[in-house]
Amino acid sequence: MSRDERVDHATSRSFANALALLTVEPRPCLLDLPPAELPVPSGAGEYRARQLASWLYQRGERDTVAMTDLPTAWRAELAERWRVDPFERAERFPSVDGSVRYLFTLSDSQRTEAVYMPYRGRKTVCVSSMVGCPAGCAFCATGALGFGRNLSRGEIVGQLLAVAWHEGFAPLELRNVVLMGMGEALLNYDAAIGAIRTMVASEALGISPRRVTLSTVGLPSRIRRLASEGLPLVLAVSLHAPDDATRRSIIPTAHAYPVADIVASLRDWQAAGGRRVTIEYTMLDGVNDAHWQARALAALLEGLVVHVNLIPFNPWKGSGFRSSPKERIDAFARVLEGERVRTSVRFSRGRDAGAACGQLALGGSGRADPASARRQRAATAS
Ligand code: SF4
Repeated sequence: MSRDERVDHATSRSFANALALLTVEPRPCLLDLPPAELPVPSGAGEYRARQLASWLYQRGERDTVAMTDLPTAWRAELAERWRVDPFERAERFPSVDGSVRYLFTLSDSQRTEAVYMPYRGRKTVCVSSMVGCPAGCAFCATGALGFGRNLSRGEIVGQLLAVAWHEGFAPLELRNVVLMGMGEALLNYDAAIGAIRTMVASEALGISPRRVTLSTVGLPSRIRRLASEGLPLVLAVSLHAPDDATRRSIIPTAHAYPVADIVASLRDWQAAGGRRVTIEYTMLDGVNDAHWQARALAALLEGLVVHVNLIPFNPWKGSGFRSSPKERIDAFARVLEGERVRTSVRFSRGRDAGAACGQLALGGSGRADPASARRQRAATAS
């Protein structure tokens, strides 16, 4: 089946499913279960659970009836009681740079997004952990959208399978995942960690935890809890300012969590064996891009093993922010590098498709427009 046929197939299937939903509750989703706890016929051993996991996660099969080496009666029972795909509909918004934004409609008609980023020799997917986000960062279109709900374990890991299916490759080809889409993953802790455990399980996707990046706005107690999980993930912290006054002006959670507390939790993360931390820093013209802020950031991070990503602000309708000019971003980077802080300037992919960092806002076109998405969501709910 070609990619377009897959999208058509998914679309027509979504209409059929929408009709069914008028009268029937959706069946539970197999992806919500840990791979070792998949339902097997009574008396069957672990072998059967591994066999089913292989079909779901390694071959990316969505139709249990087509899992030909499983007993026929079990396949029929699975088809009757369970579903594989957690989404009713998937829409693709390709960017000129090759990345693709996916807009997924969930079984309760809420929507969330993922971004597929093919690089030479590696395929990366940025997944969401929520519908919208409660953190409300002022420069982020997702924050402006408000909070819809948490995603389940299956709805998070299902984004990877759906992207692979629609793009036409085996899920096992996916080796890099970033939880950096919609939502604050550490506020949906159990589902996010459950999804990561499915991603790294050898009987499921078998992705190295070192290739899974979890992004957080900086919640110290959750960072410490994450350090105790025994998962050598890459932790990315959206710091965006080195001082509390600036941070509070753009990130509401900064009122509860001072910068010093966040940095202390990062020291604990690294002391507990956690790996290098990535510091995300969106460059906002006249807000957080002054020379003194670069020096303060370098001083703050002293003694930590970090890499700073300076991200030129990606515009969206109604944001009220502009990106810092290139010369100021370069000057900021030079100050950090002069203080021996490893630094990159990271240009986001997928800007024209509303897929870049901070732009995810459920847009039905390439334009990130959270106000109109909010109106649409309210209309759907009423
Ligand atoms: S930057 Fe991240 S934490 Fe802040 S509102 Fe956007 S999605 Fe939420």
